[in-house]
Amino acid sequence: MIDLHCHSLYSDGTDTPEALARMGDGIGLSALALTDHDTLEGLPAFLAMQPQVKTRLLAGTEVSCRFLGRSLHVLGLLVNHEDTRFAERLAELRTRRDDRNRRMIAKLQELGCRIEMADVEAEAPDQPGRAYLISRVHFAKALASKGIVNHPQQAFESLLCDGGRAWVPMDELEPATAARWIREAGGVPVVAHPGRFAGGAFVWDEAMKELRDLGMEGLEAYYGEYAEAQQKSFKALAAKLGMAMSGGSDYHGRNKPAIRLGRGRGSLHVPDELLEGLEQRRREGTWH
Ligand code: AMP
Ligand code: MN
Ligand code: MN
Ligand code: MN
Repeated sequence: MIDLHCHSLYSDGTDTPEALARMGDGIGLSALALTDHDTLEGLPAFLAMQPQVKTRLLAGTEVSCRFLGRSLHVLGLLVNHEDTRFAERLAELRTRRDDRNRRMIAKLQELGCRIEMADVEAEAPDQPGRAYLISRVHFAKALASKGIVNHPQQAFESLLCDGGRAWVPMDELEPATAARWIREAGGVPVVAHPGRFAGGAFVWDEAMKELRDLGMEGLEAYYGEYAEAQQKSFKALAAKLGMAMSGGSDYHGRNKPAIRLGRGRGSLHVPDELLEGLEQRRREGTWH
């Protein structure tokens, strides 16, 4: 069993990279990829755990794209975490994110919420010298801490969800750019949790073909929050389009308490063979 999608406190999870490596080992995963949003900064500490664990530790990241007017997440699996050009490109995305965050604070204030950026930053773990990233998860926690909503999920429902009253879209990448950046960093671009796109009620056949033609090499057919039927239909779609399959829990620690590493909501089981398929894509890549 493997897990190719999880977050540490370098983005919007709550565990250290070291703790994730140990947890993966503890539950007997044969491979685990750390895929923090828009950053590679947790990877040195994560990969340095390799001598201490049997689980193969793999590099990854997750970036946000704009596709059909909505946000689409893309995983960069097996990237070279020491690629400086890729690190700079991700740093540019974090600058855009900071800008979005400032505008979201202004919008919340316009709506009458008494909240400052410092309140949101207080929800992200603070360790000097480490560049943690601020995501909407931290906004949700701050709104709950200040009593503006009853709990973080309510902040998403009433304010922060895509299209919500306080939502400000990020200046997101074109899918073709994301795919090129990931391939140029030696990785495999994979469409993350397609079942969450457009609330799940979306006919993927044509759209996924378009994404494949824009450079996406795989899709996340196994996911922590999928029902059996969704997994089945994405497996069939990958086979039909000749795309590789990936799978992961999207574990976020205490920020998504219902999701467990490796097991998702309990029944997730991502087979080892998927990693072989992704590694083959990486070897055959014409870009590196
Ligand atoms: P950001 O990258 O800052 O736009 O934040 C996106 C993150 O917020 C996602 O990776 C999820 O962890 C979380 N998120 C987005 N939409 C929702 C939602 N409707 N309910 C709960 N969490 C969400
Ligand atoms: Mn997240
Ligand atoms: Mn995602
Ligand atoms: Mn994720």
